[in-house]
Amino acid sequence: MTAFKALGLDDELLQAITDMGFETPSEVQEQAIPILLEKETDLVALAQTGTGKTAAFGFPMLQKINSGSRTTQGLILSPTRELCMQITNEMKAYGKHKKGLNVVAIYGGASITDQARNIKKGAQIIVATPGRMKDMISRNMIDISKIEYCVLDEADEMLNMGFYEDITEILSHSPKDKSTWLFSATMPREVASIAKKFMHDPAEVTVGSKNIGSENVSHEYFVVGGRDRYSALKRLADANPDIFSVVFCRTKRDTQKVAEQLIADGYSAGAIHGDLSQNQRDIVMKQFRGRQIQMMVATDVAARGIDVDNITHVINYQLPDEIETYTHRSGRTGRAGNTGISMVIVTKSEMRKIKAIEKKIQQEFIKKEVPSGMEICE
Ligand code: ADP
Ligand code: MG
Repeated sequence: MTAFKALGLDDELLQAITDMGFETPSEVQEQAIPILLEKETDLVALAQTGTGKTAAFGFPMLQKINSGSRTTQGLILSPTRELCMQITNEMKAYGKHKKGLNVVAIYGGASITDQARNIKKGAQIIVATPGRMKDMISRNMIDISKIEYCVLDEADEMLNMGFYEDITEILSHSPKDKSTWLFSATMPREVASIAKKFMHDPAEVTVGSKNIGSENVSHEYFVVGGRDRYSALKRLADANPDIFSVVFCRTKRDTQKVAEQLIADGYSAGAIHGDLSQNQRDIVMKQFRGRQIQMMVATDVAARGIDVDNITHVINYQLPDEIETYTHRSGRTGRAGNTGISMVIVTKSEMRKIKAIEKKIQQEFIKKEVPSGMEICE
């Protein structure tokens, strides 16, 4: 608590921090918060997933904006709808003692008129996905001509998802002299170039080495025959009755199929992927957060940024194409100081991918056998 105070945070934020039970700032918070509070500056912050980046930009933004005014002063861009909602909720929790604060989420797949109405009430902070944001700006539903702070959260992922042009378009409607804060887990060339384009002499914060995975996660792989993936998944679930897990598949189709099969086989599961309506996605996300379902089967939309407490296992039903995606998937567990296990189901021919991942995350995998039916009964 005193450590948070020493960063320069005001009483309303300190009260919220106490309410949430945070005891000490994480490293990225410790480094970024004083810089952002002290001066008006651009910032590039790199820190691995699960290190508390949301509060690292959220606290300073909340402290700097005027919640008594109805003008939109802060904009947070984030890659996915789920993440957008999560950040909104977090900002509301951090800012709950700030009188008059209105944080509004703007994302696709939900009613644009409802969102426009919420904006009209006077939102000091908007948290948005780039596509819907661009759309609403072009329809004059949102005015960002007076924002002072702009956060590009999960910048690497936004660029991976092809949002470069939308971001450029959105920012062209914002004042030149605002402060831009870029947060990312990794720093690929695209992020470096966006930093160059949109930022002026940014302060830099780097926590840990770039690209490596969380130290709280152990990595295991299970070699199976091509047809045995699904039965291996069931065995792994049977062997871990208290499992609370995200199961990643490569395609929307496989995601849907695996979830349906699990449900048919009596497991507590749900699917989340881009072919579902936003409403269906919200329901599954809510059930998962509420621990009403134990296994959320997902495409990589859910891989980024989603923070659900105490996920015990990340299961890679299939490995992703990009090694970097593996880091993000496994980062769903082992968060906020907890430990977690990332499991990979592979066929023999995919073994070389394991080696490539080991090199990237600088951690070794443990080879494990899929538990047999016997072991599970014992
Ligand atoms: P990132 O964006 O770096 O992936 P998040 O901002 O989602 O990480 O934070 C990860 C989790 O850690 C969240 O559940 C958040 O509430 C929690 N958290 C953040 N800061 C602290 C802190 N100082 N002490 C304890 N928990 C924290
Ligand atoms: Mg984040």
